[in-house]
Amino acid sequence: MTSAAITLRPSRERSLARRHPWIFSGAIARVDGDPQPGDTVVVRSSTGDPLALAAYSPHSQIRARVWTYDTDDESVVDDEFVAARVRAAVARRAPVLGERTDSARIVFSEADDVPGLIADRYGDTVVVQCTTVGAERFREAIADALSELDGIRSVYERSDADVREREGLAARVGVMRGEEPSADLVAYEDGLRYVIDVGGGHKTGFYLDQRNTRRAIPAYAAGRRVLNVFAYTGAFSLVASSAGAASVSSIDSSGPALAIAARNGELNGVDVGELVEADAFTALRGLRDRARQYDLILLDPPKLASTEQQVGKASRAYKDLNLLAIKLLAPGGVLMTFSCSGAMTAELFQKVVAGAALDAKRQVRIIDRLAQPSDHPVPLWFPEAEYLKGLVLQAD
Ligand code: SAH
Repeated sequence: MTSAAITLRPSRERSLARRHPWIFSGAIARVDGDPQPGDTVVVRSSTGDPLALAAYSPHSQIRARVWTYDTDDESVVDDEFVAARVRAAVARRAPVLGERTDSARIVFSEADDVPGLIADRYGDTVVVQCTTVGAERFREAIADALSELDGIRSVYERSDADVREREGLAARVGVMRGEEPSADLVAYEDGLRYVIDVGGGHKTGFYLDQRNTRRAIPAYAAGRRVLNVFAYTGAFSLVASSAGAASVSSIDSSGPALAIAARNGELNGVDVGELVEADAFTALRGLRDRARQYDLILLDPPKLASTEQQVGKASRAYKDLNLLAIKLLAPGGVLMTFSCSGAMTAELFQKVVAGAALDAKRQVRIIDRLAQPSDHPVPLWFPEAEYLKGLVLQAD
C-alpha cells in the first residue's frame, strides 16, 4: 500500500492531462509520507484528486515519472506490472526482429512506458541500462523478464551512463542473468555481421539507432569515394564497402573502436578501407588543406549538446563540421549529416547546416531525411524521445 504522495501546484496537472510522464520539482507543492528513492507515490492535483502513480526521484529535477494514470489500486506497480511492460515493449519489436536482423532496442524507456530502462538485444544477449531509481527498484524483475525471452542466454548490465549520477546512482556493470556475454558476440543485420563489445563499447555496444542510415547508404555508395567521419566501429564503412564503394576512409578518435572496425572487415571478408585514428575537426581541416574530394561523406558526431544551455556552443561545432564536410564534396557529392542531440531541434539543425553551405559557397539540396528507426519510437505524448535527425544533402 502506497502512503506517500506528492501534491502539485495549481494548474501544474496540465502536462499529466496530456499524458506527459514527467513531474518536475518546480511543479510540486508538497511531499507527504517521506517517500524513498524509487518508491511509488500517488500524484495529486492541487485540489487533492489522485492523477497518477509515479516513481519518486528525489535527487533529480525530474522528481517523479509516471507509471500509470490508473490510481484505483495503489499497490498495482509491482514486479509483475513492470515485467508486463517489458514484455509489451518486446512484442512491439516484432516488425524489426526477424530475418533481416537479430538485434534491436527492445525497451526504450519512456517511449515504452518503462521510464529509465533501456534494453538492447544482440542475438542471444540483452544489454540493460537503468538510468533512474524507479527502474533500478525493479531491476531484478526486469532481469528475469528479459532472461525469459525466447533465445536469450545472457542479460548483461551496462548501467554506467553519466545520467545515473543525476539520480544519485552509482555505476553498475556486469552479468545479471545467464552467462558472461561471448567475447565474440556479433549482431547480424542485412547480410553483415558486427562485433559487439558489450562490456567496453559506447552505449550498449552498437549504434542500433542508425539502422535507417545503414539501409540508405548502399544507394549512394557504389563506385563512390566514401569518407566516414566519427566512424566508431565502422558500420557505415562496412555497408559502403560491401555495396561497392571505390574507396572508404574512416576517421574516429577511438583506437579501440577502430580496432573493432578492422575486425568487422575481417569477419565479413570486406575491405573496410583506411582507418584513421584522429580528431575529426583536425583531420577534416587536413583533408581540406590537401583539397581532397569525396562523393559520399557520412558525418555522425557524438551528442554535442546534452542540455538546452549547450545548444549555442554545439551549433557552432555542428556548423564547423558541416562546413568542412561540404567543402570536401566533389561536384554532385552527397553528405549524410546527423545530430543526435535531443536538445537541438530538427529545424535548428537544418538552419545550422544551411549556414554551413552558404559559407562553403555551395548550392546544397536536401534529397532525403533520416531518423531513428522504429525500435526507437516517439510517443505523440512524449516528443522528447525524438533525438536523432539526419539530412541527406546533395551539392551542385
Ligand atoms: N556512426 C557511428 C556512430 C558514431 S558515434 C555508427 O553508426 O556506429 C560518435 C563517434 O565519435 C564515437 O565513435 C567517438 O569515438 C567519436 N568521437 C568523439 N569525438 C571525436 C572527435 N573529436 N574526433 C573524432 N572522433 C570522435
